[in-house]
Amino acid sequence: MPDTTRRPFRGCSRVQLHPSRVEVFSNCSVISRVGRVAARLRSWACLFFLALGLCILMVSSRPVAAKASAQHFQYSLPRMGTIFRIEMYAGSDVEASRAAEAAFSRAEELEQIMSDYRADSELMRLMRDGAAAPVPVSSDLYSVLAKSLWTSKLSRGAFDVSIGPLVDLWRSARKAGRLPDAGEIAKAKALVDYRNIELDPVQHTVFLKRAGMKLDLGAIGKGYAADQMLAVLQSQGIQRALVVAGGEVVTGEPPPGSSGWKVRIDTADSDAGVAPCTLLLTGHAVSTSGDEHQFLEVNGHRYSHIINPRTGWALEGRSSTTVIARDSTTADALATAFSTMSVSDGIRVAQSLPGVSALWVRRVGGEWKRYASRGFPASCHGLSERSQ
Ligand code: ADP
Ligand code: MG
Repeated sequence: MPDTTRRPFRGCSRVQLHPSRVEVFSNCSVISRVGRVAARLRSWACLFFLALGLCILMVSSRPVAAKASAQHFQYSLPRMGTIFRIEMYAGSDVEASRAAEAAFSRAEELEQIMSDYRADSELMRLMRDGAAAPVPVSSDLYSVLAKSLWTSKLSRGAFDVSIGPLVDLWRSARKAGRLPDAGEIAKAKALVDYRNIELDPVQHTVFLKRAGMKLDLGAIGKGYAADQMLAVLQSQGIQRALVVAGGEVVTGEPPPGSSGWKVRIDTADSDAGVAPCTLLLTGHAVSTSGDEHQFLEVNGHRYSHIINPRTGWALEGRSSTTVIARDSTTADALATAFSTMSVSDGIRVAQSLPGVSALWVRRVGGEWKRYASRGFPASCHGLSERSQ
């Protein structure tokens, strides 16, 4: 039998008051062993309650002390082919690094599920077996796919998680520096249709109704990872935190003494000298989709890495779409969906969703234009009211 009278619980420091009879563990528990002399019991009991009172006082005053001395910590690591970053305020180095470690291992776990580069990822297994019979999947993969289908319905197919065959085609085109031909586009497009993905909410299975379908979580996976990392930090007692997953940003409570996290957004017109703007976010996420980093240029035309699933063609011309939402999964998915939809359809959808607002930056007739849905911070679009 283990000697539980001598082992402090996790996080307790041991204070020995008497060499052989009583040990008092500060901060969390008190364990006593009955002494031989009954008369001394009463005095030991007094000591016991005194220590217990002290213990309760220390535990209840701890969060206040931690808050008062919160320091800023920052960590970054490569995940999902980009850099993930965490900023937080915590009471100590140990507390901060333990929470950051847990959040990064959650991201690693999600990468193992959602990667389309790792042959043994859950997503790859689903694509291999999912057309033969419904495949049971983890709650993470199920949630991401359910949110993808929600976004597809909302955007009437402008967002489509089964876009994989077209993404592969345009990726090869970018590498080769040439446009894909119409035949190749038609062949790939025939495999793209989110309505061929069947989710069973009771069995938690996924069925792919067409063989050869390829799912691509590039427009939603990082947002989901950011949300999950923030949730891990919060479960570790860290409330004042910000998570950045590539271009996806999600925030918890603000830094001490501030009303929000300052998040700079880069819009497509920044090359034309328009100053980048800064949002002040608390409990919200922001995502910007555009052709800033990945594009193909042929004969003076620029083609984005975002593809219109209805035509099979990559979006043309310079643009960016920024979405604010209450969570990063929604912001990430909607930023891609709104990039592919018309601005007026996007404004209609954004305004139908609580907590969602968006900013579209488009080049129209040689001029940069900004359009915003109701609720998008005016400091960032310079428009007095929403415009369409
Ligand atoms: P980033 O990855 O730069 O944050 P996005 O969030 O907009 O940009 O995601 C773009 C990625 O989403 C593409 O690289 C591709 O993998 C995938 N994708 C492209 N077009 C679509 C689409 N119409 N619907 C869903 N996913 C898309
Ligand atoms: Mg996206």
